[in-house]
Amino acid sequence: MTVLDDFDLSGSVAVVTGGTRGIGRAISEAFAAAGADVVPTARTEAAVDDAVEAVRDRGASSLACPTDVTDEASVEALFDRVDDELGGADVVVNNAGINPDGALGPPEAVDPEAFDATVDANLGGAFLCARTAARTLVEDGGTVINIASVGGIVGLPRQHPYVASKHGLVGLTKSMALDWAPDVRVNAIAPGYVSTELTEELEADEDLRRSVLDRTPQRRFADPEEIAGPAVFLASDAASFVTGECLTVDGGWTAR
Ligand code: NDP
Repeated sequence: MTVLDDFDLSGSVAVVTGGTRGIGRAISEAFAAAGADVVPTARTEAAVDDAVEAVRDRGASSLACPTDVTDEASVEALFDRVDDELGGADVVVNNAGINPDGALGPPEAVDPEAFDATVDANLGGAFLCARTAARTLVEDGGTVINIASVGGIVGLPRQHPYVASKHGLVGLTKSMALDWAPDVRVNAIAPGYVSTELTEELEADEDLRRSVLDRTPQRRFADPEEIAGPAVFLASDAASFVTGECLTVDGGWTAR
């Protein structure tokens, strides 16, 4: 045995919400490469099929189950299938998230429905998935990883619902870690700016892109794969004494 063996995820079953593209897709493929069976899920059926094929190509068992994390019946159906077909989830990555146009701007411009939708998906969805997975996690032990944001640690102007949801998610991480210790570890990752569909418009706007780069000591956006390594660490035995933690992966953005 070497310390590297602790990073091996063989024998684990991981559910990754929002696992079809961007950060969730990178985490799904990295988990499969580390030996886990992986269920990448999201709402769009064709995208789920594509992600499932990608993890199977890396040797993982998987299943295709399109899921809306804001819908209790949909989440129940997902974990029912994971229990029946793969023996239950050991790792749950709550990564599905949104930041819709109606939720952007100064507080007075925020559409209340967009506020609710953002909190419902980013925070409510994570809670729903964790509480549903509890039936196997709490019995057998396991780990939850919530994909928060630097917006879960500091304020961001013009992103109030998103920041509220991500601060909530960091708090939820800590409170679940307390209730479920010692057998279930619950941690968060707070990425800085990552090149994905979510940040496409921001990155295409030269002024906004420049302001992100000026504030980021590493002077670039991250690739989604750079969030996957920390996720493998938190899912693995290498992080066996890490719980209730929010790990920033932001190129130094919050160090300033
Ligand atoms: P993307 O927009 O690229 O991907 C989002 C994923 O979530 C898609 O697979 C989408 O699929 C899925 N999704 C959205 N809503 C739901 C829902 N209700 N139920 C199930 N799946 C859903 O986003 P990123 O990869 O950029 O972001 C992933 C996470 O990382 C988010 O939580 C985001 O807040 C966080 N993050 C991202 C950063 C960045 O710079 N990109 C920085 C910090 C945090 P579908 O639409 O088919 O359901």
